[in-house]
Amino acid sequence: MNFSLEGKTYVVMGVANRRSIAWGIAQALHNAGARLVFTYANERFEKPVRELADSLDRDDSLFYECDVTDDEAIKQTFTSIKEDVGVIHGLAHCIAFANRDDLNGEFVDTSRDGFLLSQNISAYSLAAVARESKDLMTEGGSIVTLTYLGGERVVQNYNVMGVAKASLDATMKYTANDLGKHGIRVNAISAGPIRTLSAKGVGDFNSILQEIEERAPLRKPVTQEEVGDVAYFLMSDLSRGMTGEILHVDSGFNILGK
Ligand code: NAD
Repeated sequence: MNFSLEGKTYVVMGVANRRSIAWGIAQALHNAGARLVFTYANERFEKPVRELADSLDRDDSLFYECDVTDDEAIKQTFTSIKEDVGVIHGLAHCIAFANRDDLNGEFVDTSRDGFLLSQNISAYSLAAVARESKDLMTEGGSIVTLTYLGGERVVQNYNVMGVAKASLDATMKYTANDLGKHGIRVNAISAGPIRTLSAKGVGDFNSILQEIEERAPLRKPVTQEEVGDVAYFLMSDLSRGMTGEILHVDSGFNILGK
């Protein structure tokens, strides 16, 4: 079996900076020989994404702006990618957003707008990008999204984003069922807490991290690189029999009772 991703192209959505989980995934795919296509939310992220990509020892990466709240932008992005690279072999969806005000206090106080915003960006976007990218995966493909335990259980302050992750998990499974007949697999990695730009918005994030250090079986938080390596596994033929699955990469925290 070939574990190399040499000759393959993957779209990585959601690199904001070097702490992004998407960047850990990009590095793992790059190290396995893949060519990378980066998408970023708006022009603010273009420079940091290009600078990070420049640090990789190849110069054929491609870059596209793609705000996932805009159906036309998603369509246009994948039309451009098709014109520029033809076939892709997978996509990493590393995108989420909720208002900071909704990541504190009680979930029940979430506004309708805040609820719909987090669903739109964090869950519906997976279906939207899967729909527009599937025709580029003519040789089969693998889509990987990032979820969190807060979608399965109540995690303090995760609130509206937990509900969005529950929705993302179901979106992942329904999409896996639809795309399986095209040879495209869809799976999720449930990452343990990692200090990133998005994580900063979650109230009292430090205590979530501290609990991992004190109680998780491996007694340490996971890193972007550890998540990246599992994404590489999911993108590779090693995982060819898996779809619709949620893999926890969280130092084992999810197995614990209270
Ligand atoms: P991050 O802030 O580095 O990445 C989030 C990305 O989402 C950013 O690049 C941002 O630009 C992008 N984004 C937001 N709105 C967008 C829009 N409208 N269009 C396009 N892109 C948009 O943070 P991260 O922690 O690396 O997050 C990546 C994924 O991992 C998210 O789905 C997050 O929920 C998930 N996750 C994170 C953790 C953690 O503790 N950091 C744990 C489990 C899962």
